[in-house]
Amino acid sequence: MKAHDALYIDGAWRPADGADVIEVVDPADEQVIGRVPAGNALDVDTAVRAARAALPGWAATPPAERAARLAALRDALTAGADEIAATVTAELGSPPQFSRAVHVGMPIAVADSYAGLAATHAFEERVGNSTVLHEPVGVVGAITPWNYPLHQIVAKVAPALAAGCTVVLKPAEDTPLTAQLFAGAVHQAGVPAGVFNLVTGLGPVAGQALAEHPGVDLLSFTGSTAVGRRIGAVAGAAVKKVALELGGKSANVILPGADLARAVNVGVANVMANSGQTCSAWTRMLVHRDRYEEAVELAAAAAVKYAERIGPVVSAAQRDRVRGYIEKGVTEGARLVAGGPEAPREQGYFVSPTVFADVTPEMTVAQEEIFGPVLSILRYDDEDDALRIANGTVYGLAGAVWAADEAEAVAFARRMDTGQVDINGGRFNPLAPFGGYKQSGVGRELGAHGLAEYLQTKSLQF
Ligand code: NAD
Repeated sequence: MKAHDALYIDGAWRPADGADVIEVVDPADEQVIGRVPAGNALDVDTAVRAARAALPGWAATPPAERAARLAALRDALTAGADEIAATVTAELGSPPQFSRAVHVGMPIAVADSYAGLAATHAFEERVGNSTVLHEPVGVVGAITPWNYPLHQIVAKVAPALAAGCTVVLKPAEDTPLTAQLFAGAVHQAGVPAGVFNLVTGLGPVAGQALAEHPGVDLLSFTGSTAVGRRIGAVAGAAVKKVALELGGKSANVILPGADLARAVNVGVANVMANSGQTCSAWTRMLVHRDRYEEAVELAAAAAVKYAERIGPVVSAAQRDRVRGYIEKGVTEGARLVAGGPEAPREQGYFVSPTVFADVTPEMTVAQEEIFGPVLSILRYDDEDDALRIANGTVYGLAGAVWAADEAEAVAFARRMDTGQVDINGGRFNPLAPFGGYKQSGVGRELGAHGLAEYLQTKSLQF
């Protein structure tokens, strides 16, 4: 795609206030592939004013018409799928097939789900002698990360529009081209001017200005726990609603009776997908001591197969961060059974699929989110020990349980402090609420629960 040298505000591409730009780099060959404006506080203010001006009209638009715009948005994304997939591959580095199936396929499914929910959701209910109105919260400031560039945007913008909110989006600096294609799709879908606005820019400049803007009613942030904490503090001080989707360090718990080969292979695939840059990835595999060595061998063999299959990580900074974690794992005494910190290729920000065995729960690689293709395998003695380890981090975003039968896996999953658990390889469900326990976040995305984040209630008594 050709990068826009403008911001999408009030229904048109408009020049930014300043001349600063962000260079977009292809992580596979380290070449600059585009430049986008680095918006400043004035640009954010212009966008928020446009969103505020558009709010009364959009909030009063009948849900059926909002649903029609969302269906048109889904169709525009579908029509542009090839270009979007190629752009995600160019700026994120994910393999073309994964870009098409997941990076584009999943947001189309989510846009479709909100076209349906906008049409069917009960925006009014009777409770005793009251009528409860579900009204849009107002102007949404959305701040998104680069790891699933389109999905993270659609998971916020689609429910916000379905609810009748207007939006200013500040996407990640590493993947702004996908965000520009999304703005083009919104335009094509006939969403009225000012309802959706895009300001590309740096987190500490445009992101911070958006978070602090008094004209924003709800901040919806996905990204690191460190930045999320700051956004939460800003929102708290201003008494604004806030939704935070943050980091994870999820456990893949393989109970003794499970199909070990399947559990390990699916577990390794889960960690290596998107080069490990998935917040809900099961980066800690927990295996009973009697089957531990067998699992380690299976995992090492599986990981090696991904060496030629996975793309680079998103940036040089991310590669250095991930390599630093691998070195730390070695220093702290974990046993490297696949991969390692050495660069597997001369060019591009590649990291070898890496597996650590003999990882103990307190090690850095078992506690901190690495966000790279690195799996840690931990040993447990019994179920209570497995549960202690599974719940023993500050995070609680996702997880998996494998057992001989579903009932046994579900019984274990009920005791996990986490927001999502896949039972014996259960499939992703775009209608199920997604979000974290503990420091993995506040609030939920997707489906009806995701829509509720953008609504506030008003009770009328009769
Ligand atoms: P990040 O926190 O550095 O950046 C996320 C967004 O915040 C970007 O748009 C960035 O520009 C912006 N930002 C940075 N500093 C800011 C500031 N001071 N004020 C306002 N905005 C600011 O995170 P990242 O490196 O882009 O993404 C990786 C992280 O995101 C990982 O920790 C991952 O787990 C998390 N993540 C969580 C989920 C989830 O749903 N829970 C999903 C994807 C990613």
